[in-house]
Amino acid sequence: MTGIRASRGQSARPPDEVAPAQSADVAGQRGEAAASTSPGGTAARPPDDVAGPRPAGRGWDYAPAPESREIVTIAAEYGLFVDGTFSPAADGREFPTINPATEEPLARVALAGPADVDRAVAAARQAYEQVWGPMPGAERAKYLYRIARILQERAREFAVLESLDNGKPIRESRDVDVPLAAAHFFYYAGWADKLEYAGIGGASRAGVTGGDGGASRTGVTGGAGRGMAPRPLGVAGQVIPWNFPLLMAAWKLAPALATGNTCVLKPAETTPLTALLLAEVCQQAGLPPGVVNVLTGAGQTGSALVGHTGVNKIAFTGSTEVGKEISRAVAGTGKRLTLELGGKAANVVFDDAPVDQAVEGIVNGIFFNQGHVCCAGSRLLVQESVADIVVERLRERLATLRLGDPLDKNTDIGAINSREQLDKISALAAVGEAEGAQRWSPPCRLPERGYWFPPTVFTGVSQSYRIAREEIFGPVLSVLTFRTPEEAVTKANNTPYGLSAGVWTEKGSRILWMAQRLRAGVVWANTYNRFDPASPFGGYRESGFGREGGRHGLAAYLDA
Ligand code: NAD
Repeated sequence: MTGIRASRGQSARPPDEVAPAQSADVAGQRGEAAASTSPGGTAARPPDDVAGPRPAGRGWDYAPAPESREIVTIAAEYGLFVDGTFSPAADGREFPTINPATEEPLARVALAGPADVDRAVAAARQAYEQVWGPMPGAERAKYLYRIARILQERAREFAVLESLDNGKPIRESRDVDVPLAAAHFFYYAGWADKLEYAGIGGASRAGVTGGDGGASRTGVTGGAGRGMAPRPLGVAGQVIPWNFPLLMAAWKLAPALATGNTCVLKPAETTPLTALLLAEVCQQAGLPPGVVNVLTGAGQTGSALVGHTGVNKIAFTGSTEVGKEISRAVAGTGKRLTLELGGKAANVVFDDAPVDQAVEGIVNGIFFNQGHVCCAGSRLLVQESVADIVVERLRERLATLRLGDPLDKNTDIGAINSREQLDKISALAAVGEAEGAQRWSPPCRLPERGYWFPPTVFTGVSQSYRIAREEIFGPVLSVLTFRTPEEAVTKANNTPYGLSAGVWTEKGSRILWMAQRLRAGVVWANTYNRFDPASPFGGYRESGFGREGGRHGLAAYLDA
């Protein structure tokens, strides 16, 4: 693994992307320590509490701690998972999936065409009508529990495979992606036999959800009728992105299955492997054939699925651009649609926030998963009076992050998922400089092979800059300042998106005041990127519509 804190001039890749450190004294001293490590070694890290004394000069080194990949057996080729079995695409086409950290080909995967989409939708329809739709909720729940438990049992295998195919640090796939995926199946298993109590449509049981408790504002209504279980929609076509491949699959499949729908899932073309392993888990759990089908392929496969007349519901997570295209394709067809799209979230730091805690939240907000997070806190709005100290502490903290081998348990920043995404991040960062913002990254040695981008901070950013308006979807933070809470709200809401926001302040009243005014589906207070299966997630405006997670997530798959 390559320590980020290599000394200046030590970069293995001459980093035109890496600006000289403005806090050169701190970074330079640490760079000296990091430079003493071998290229395969790791950099030093200060104690967890960054509020503590700053490391004086030399730090200490972490030994490499690579997770073994022996736990995973990657086949040379993968077929499509249709009607309970794996088979090649009808026309025999395939595409490669690679490890973005090394550019090593991992496997060849079947590329589904229209004939395969037909076959998968037919299998899902048959399973819906003959098995899954009529099955009592309590029986469906057993399968979901089984899938959740198998996910837990095979957690290490999933985590390693996810890191290999996606490039994310094993620490994150192990501690976030896989446990949360299992938690979604557990959570929705619990709902499968209680749908008439969920307060959805005309299905509420007397006395349970008489009023809607305000839920109608988010699409979950209650109390109109009584005693009838709400009905599933039928066959759900589900298209997901590459940033949380397994977790997004769980977000889609678990509520759909719990509510009695059958699924055709299309994972992203750069990260198909954990969805295929999940298909294997479905087999292992004895899920009836056709209930879950997995079609691998790129945009054309997704488009064929979206346009298929046999599908009743489309659930899409991905870019706003493709979301708009799907909206147009689905309009007038009678298909139900939910869209989870992009974001450009504001992470708002007030002058009374504990600085070091806020800095941790900023780092987590934008550098978690290399910034490949729809709800990433990519715009830091910091109160002017504390802007200098926050940015200084942030730079110090960034100089301690370790970038490199995603399978090393000490790695903080992994690889960018694809060449295409790296090019997009690089181009937008260059635009930021051209527009006049000041660019900074810690002194940083990037591995020779693979796709890498150093954590980057832009200061002096104006609201009109593209880096303040467009989703970069990478480890790039734009820092803006504000003076008053009103100005913070105006700036935070000055975006076509509306997915998430963060507020850092010690005043509870200010948190509530801000939360009422921020136009975002999720507002985190004194924390960031915190997810729970019981909590609904989704956006406003160009961030999409519909909610995933929680009781609200059931509504997307029920005929209410
Ligand atoms: P993308 O839109 O390019 O692709 C997403 C998926 O759609 C992929 O599986 C892709 O193959 C498929 N696809 C592409 N073109 C299609 C078409 N015309 N019809 C149907 N399917 C098509 O997005 P991406 O680059 O994979 O993911 C990054 C985007 O996803 C970011 O904008 C991010 O904000 C967003 N995202 C949103 C959420 C959320 O919950 N709101 C979560 C994760 C990611």
